[in-house]
Amino acid sequence: MTTDLALRADLAVRGVRVDAPVRRRSGAGPSDDGHVFLGGIGTALPISSSSPYEITGGRLLLDGADLGLDVEPVRRPAFYDLVTDDGVPFEQLARLHGSDVLATTVVQTCMRYADEATRCRFCAITASLDAGATTAVKTPAQLAAVAEAAVRLDGVRQMVLTTGTSTAPDRGARHLARCVRAVTEAVPGLPVQVQCEPPGDLAVLTELREAGATAIGIHVESMDDAVRARWTPGKATVPMADYWSAWHEAVRVFGRNRVSTYLLVGLGEHPDELVAGAAELVAAGVYPFVVPFRPLAGTLEASHPPPPATLVADVTARVAAVLAAAGMRGAEQGAGCAACGACSALPVAGG
Ligand code: SF4
Repeated sequence: MTTDLALRADLAVRGVRVDAPVRRRSGAGPSDDGHVFLGGIGTALPISSSSPYEITGGRLLLDGADLGLDVEPVRRPAFYDLVTDDGVPFEQLARLHGSDVLATTVVQTCMRYADEATRCRFCAITASLDAGATTAVKTPAQLAAVAEAAVRLDGVRQMVLTTGTSTAPDRGARHLARCVRAVTEAVPGLPVQVQCEPPGDLAVLTELREAGATAIGIHVESMDDAVRARWTPGKATVPMADYWSAWHEAVRVFGRNRVSTYLLVGLGEHPDELVAGAAELVAAGVYPFVVPFRPLAGTLEASHPPPPATLVADVTARVAAVLAAAGMRGAEQGAGCAACGACSALPVAGG
């Protein structure tokens, strides 16, 4: 049996209970997910002790009833057991996402985080740093070593480099470029996605491409200014016009469907407007990676309810239809969240 969209959306919102070690600590992207193959599709599921869904014995159960879906946990990768020459565990430098994505946050702090008035209200970027599970800044040499090992030992097929935003005009993009260059020199041909805010100097996008990045995510989370002001007050000071300039330049440099952005479902935006915004992005060659908002412990909105599963399914289906009509598939990004797809229901909907 394959996963249908309604079930995938419900799982995204309600999470699962698990009897196997499928959890990872927070890092780039949503934290505390279980990484599994669900009906053969790589899927990241929130772990929730109160969920009516349960993974046990390699099967997915709802209120104890077998849903007829095989669930296979992603095994712990061998590279986690290595350490750098100066004694830093590889596990603290990058994490396995899904079954074959190596993900890291190259700078684990953000200029918008210190002040709650500017912090994104769903963000927990320093949680794993505070827990001693990662380092604040990863060097290019460290990431090159981890990437080489992860490809050699664990069959990693793509890498995602995200960053907190720095106060420098490049918003941290130049450090990303140095990291990409080191990684692609160590592992020629490895698809790498970078993620950053719109840099003040758009020429940095060309530097990232020339450093070897395959794809780029410039994440706006919502295209509604009122929603942005409420949920991402610091980032909302960057006007939408700057996002559009960065997306257009990124498409020129990286190509159509090599650029993406997150759109979060459940921040209060009208679904029709969210879908219309996604369609604008698709028309510009930018992949809208639709993901449900998740209340995470340690964030400013830890007790905000997640969106209804019906809303997630509806928006996901409509955005998937827009993507299909444009002939854009996440896998064609080559690297990044849209290529991985584990955090979104879009792969189940054909996106
Ligand atoms: S979509 Fe994949 S790469 Fe992106 S945060 Fe989720 S698991 Fe990580």
